Amino acid sequence: MTPPPILRYKKPKSLLNRATGFLEDYTHTLNPYGGCAFGCSYCYVRGMPVAAFRPEAWGSWVDVKEGASELLRRELRRESAKGPVRIFMSSSTDPYQPTEYKERVTRSLLETMAEAPPDFVLVQTRSPLVTRDVDLLQRLGDRVRVSMTVETDLEEVRRAFAPAAPPIAARLKALAELRAAGVSVQAAVAPVLPSSERFAALLRPVTDRVVVDDYEMGDGSGGRRTKRLGLEAIYAQLGLSEWYSPSAWRTVYDRLLVHFREEELRISRSGFAP
Ligand code: SF4
Repeated sequence: MTPPPILRYKKPKSLLNRATGFLEDYTHTLNPYGGCAFGCSYCYVRGMPVAAFRPEAWGSWVDVKEGASELLRRELRRESAKGPVRIFMSSSTDPYQPTEYKERVTRSLLETMAEAPPDFVLVQTRSPLVTRDVDLLQRLGDRVRVSMTVETDLEEVRRAFAPAAPPIAARLKALAELRAAGVSVQAAVAPVLPSSERFAALLRPVTDRVVVDDYEMGDGSGGRRTKRLGLEAIYAQLGLSEWYSPSAWRTVYDRLLVHFREEELRISRSGFAP
């Protein structure tokens, strides 16, 4: 079992950061926490300054942002006066990592957004905890989409790459629940990991929208950041080295095409756009 993360409470000076690069379709990114206890092996944040200059390993610490909802309220007012506000939540943490059960920072931010809605907010997570906030997501209506990471349908693959992340079946169930509640959802097969031929058929009943992305297209550096993480060894250990290939996404995409219409599928950045 993964030990609980080292928690620190911090009062940030700002919350909304200008969105750049891969996330340029947004005006801002919003991270309720610093760090991420899911600690996925392929997480490109591992190599970024936020993680690289910390003494503790990525995945072992979480900074809880105090006073976040009040700060967001002020920042939303200021930024909305300048023009449209499209928020990507989150770019360097999972807003529904286990700490959120108790701390409820993400919930407080959604409460603020439900009161003073931005033009759009994408909630990017791999946690079924997002279903707790269905009331707020419903209030945000067509201004919100929940993007649930489902990188594979194979539990042994999920455990090898992201042992602390929620099981795949729980994520599929969460997608189904949100959709039934009228919340706009998508499955993000991102990054593409080895999967079975059944994958597309499992996604079909829980979503009408799927985005496929891989290390090369999606890590913001043409795959260079990911290369440094040494993931090849995990593929080799699983005996699935053929999936460590720039064309792996195509295999998954073609399988999805059997069950989804082309307009229901998206590739990389366009799939994460508002
Ligand atoms: S959930 Fe996202 S932010 Fe957290 S470790 Fe995994 S990839 Fe990184």
